[in-house]
Amino acid sequence: MNASESPLELAIASARVAARLCRKVQAGIPASMDKDDRSPVTLADYGSQAIILRAVQESFPDHGVMSEEGTAHLRSNADQAQVERLVALVSDAIGGKAEFEQVCNWIDHSGPSSAWAWCIDPIDGTKGFLRGDQYAIAIGILREGVPFAGVLACPNLPLDLDDPESPRGVIFAALRGEGAKRCPLDGEGWESVRVSDRSAADARVLGSVESAHGDPALVVRMMEDAGIEGGFVRFDSQVKYGILAQGDAEIYVRPRSRPDWRENPWDHAGGVVVAEEAGGRVTDLDGKALDFSSGGKMVHNRGVLATNGIVHEAAVAGLQAAEAI
Ligand code: AMP
Ligand code: MG
Repeated sequence: MNASESPLELAIASARVAARLCRKVQAGIPASMDKDDRSPVTLADYGSQAIILRAVQESFPDHGVMSEEGTAHLRSNADQAQVERLVALVSDAIGGKAEFEQVCNWIDHSGPSSAWAWCIDPIDGTKGFLRGDQYAIAIGILREGVPFAGVLACPNLPLDLDDPESPRGVIFAALRGEGAKRCPLDGEGWESVRVSDRSAADARVLGSVESAHGDPALVVRMMEDAGIEGGFVRFDSQVKYGILAQGDAEIYVRPRSRPDWRENPWDHAGGVVVAEEAGGRVTDLDGKALDFSSGGKMVHNRGVLATNGIVHEAAVAGLQAAEAI
């Protein structure tokens, strides 16, 4: 990495390196080492986080970090072969020899308390990753608790969503006040992205593949109540924010999976900047602004609703009607 890089440039560069590592693992037979809450984690999650946090620690040691993974589970569950594979993956990605302890130190880097906080999901959508479907390397950078910059590397997203045979791999990036852009993950040529101007009747809705991550029946009721007829398509991970930002859908709705569920900041911070800078609007299900300032779970919000802006009020009203049933 280059010492003069801005936080956004560093996030883009390290997400690209991390994405290569993830692709290498997904091309084999990625295995889950389930965490104690039974959520899946793979060597690619650990490797990707090590790559990104090595870069953050080197270039922005005074920035804070919130990240999905930690090494307690890795240290107590990985066998020798997994440790060696992880070290080899990271060494190859950084072009040098890393030691396991060093890799663990990068994964666990949390930085000091700071006005800047990096929210990192090294593989958002690990279940999609394990199925060979969509996933994202997601980086959101908060400044004073507000999303400031976002990067989503989407290794399996077709460049043309209407053509599933088109080459795969897209990276989205956005900086507050500067707009959102995308680029082939493996190439150059950034282009601006902008949400669509469809109205509610034609709006296309995005949701999670995993029913347990939300409430798909509520989404269908919301569509009926709001007269939304553009269809409901399900993708894993924050690629949903990228798809909304590039104008291929108008609504991403994430109802709570259970009353006490609260969202993780790393599942949204990056995507929120990309969607908002593309002209979209992101709130919770009640239309309330997302609050990233709690330093952990997003305790002040209920679910997430991201739209092209035009359909936002109709979606909130549809959700209220659907929830009243
Ligand atoms: P998605 O692929 O959009 O379903 O989102 C993946 C993210 O869902 C993961 O990174 C998890 O942090 C998050 N997740 C895990 N369990 C739940 C749950 N019960 N409800 C909502 N989100 C969850
Ligand atoms: Mg996630």
